[in-house]
Amino acid sequence: MRVFWFILLLDLGWVGLVSAHRIENVDYQAMKKKASAQRGSVPKSAEPFLKFPETALVDWDEKYLYLGSEGLPDHPMMIGITAWQQQVPLPQSYYLGNAWSIPLQPVPAKVGLSAKTNFFRGAIALAANGIPIFNPIKNDGRTDTYLAGELDEYGGHCGRADDYHYHVAPWHLAERLGPNLPLAYALDGYPIYGLTEPDGGSLAGLDSFHGHTNTAGEYHYHASKSYPYINGGFHGEVSIGGGQVEPQPRANPVREAGKPLPGAKITGFEMSADKKKYQLEYVQNGKKGSVSYKILSGGDVHFTFKNPDGTTSESSGKQGRKGGGGNRPPPPNGNQRPGGPPVEANGQPRKPWIENHLKEMDRDQDGKLSREEMMLEVSKTFRGYDADRDGNIRQGEANGPGVRSSMAGFVKQHFSEVDGNSDGSISLEELKAVAMKMWQKYSQGVGF
Ligand SMILES: [Zn+2]
Ligand SMILES: [Zn+2]
Repeated sequence: MRVFWFILLLDLGWVGLVSAHRIENVDYQAMKKKASAQRGSVPKSAEPFLKFPETALVDWDEKYLYLGSEGLPDHPMMIGITAWQQQVPLPQSYYLGNAWSIPLQPVPAKVGLSAKTNFFRGAIALAANGIPIFNPIKNDGRTDTYLAGELDEYGGHCGRADDYHYHVAPWHLAERLGPNLPLAYALDGYPIYGLTEPDGGSLAGLDSFHGHTNTAGEYHYHASKSYPYINGGFHGEVSIGGGQVEPQPRANPVREAGKPLPGAKITGFEMSADKKKYQLEYVQNGKKGSVSYKILSGGDVHFTFKNPDGTTSESSGKQGRKGGGGNRPPPPNGNQRPGGPPVEANGQPRKPWIENHLKEMDRDQDGKLSREEMMLEVSKTFRGYDADRDGNIRQGEANGPGVRSSMAGFVKQHFSEVDGNSDGSISLEELKAVAMKMWQKYSQGVGF
């Protein structure tokens, strides 16, 4: 009985809140339906990605799991490469229609396709942190990128669009994933586990793609320390276009592709916390060189090359961003910085936002909002608002047509507070930071 009254009170609170905004009232009904349909149905394949909320944004519908990301992991990149094409890491916009998709119900192919002879372009799998994994054999169809020294100490490097990706299994994710979760998913929808079975057992009966079917009748791959490193092909059905799995996101080149720099070894890499400034250092024939680059407010990228022969050169690249930065509103006043909790217009401290929206976001209906559930909400909201997929929600986008998520109204109402650096747009990091701050406060309050 007491539980019933508690729920009723929460519901009344909602009615009071939404009746002031009729449009939101409609959204709320639709969203409530969707939320209850989704409750308790987080797809199994979402689990590994939910372990990396800072780099992978997860969403799904009936058919696909969608992974949004900037394509930048939270570990150092590029260090250790000895065969370098002079590409560097830049954030990408793998969001919305340009997000990664993985089938939720993989279908075994009539004839599987080997990655030894196919798929030399594009990704063939997606690491649990949202970084794509390309064929270990590079696009010439014969070079093993790992053996050729093309990869950094995490098994990654950058492509012709300055897009960071791995070519081998992301072993460094294993610890955080634990023994039961896969390191990656192949783009045909089957998981890629590590060197043992999820239950710790040893491997037996692997096929030519390095996969097998377990006693429950489920197929999966196993990664390895030598070729094929990841899935050696596709057991499941995939669509193919232009020699790669389709559809898959497009990276966004800002300049002409680089050329090999013989004898260079990358020795250092730094990225600023806001992912706007970068510095890569290398040594060639005992002499130091570096590439410093920064992303300017309009999205252009400015490069400064300090060459081992002592010369310096500069160049600029344009990101193919729709809209650019020209029509952004001026930053709000400095005194509007967030400090305490959001305050209603009447000066009353508002009830914590999470408490007001707990029921819609609590997908497994255990009465608590987990960190993963909070990040799902961030993911959904960001994907919904970032209409031009440039990785930023600009004021115009936030005022655009409705996004159906619990957090949508919050973003709209508190735009300037969420925009932590006051540049007139909300980056994924800014939205995550605010969401995590609220979540931490909430989780401490309810004691978990
Ligand atoms: Zn590559
Ligand atoms: Zn197995």
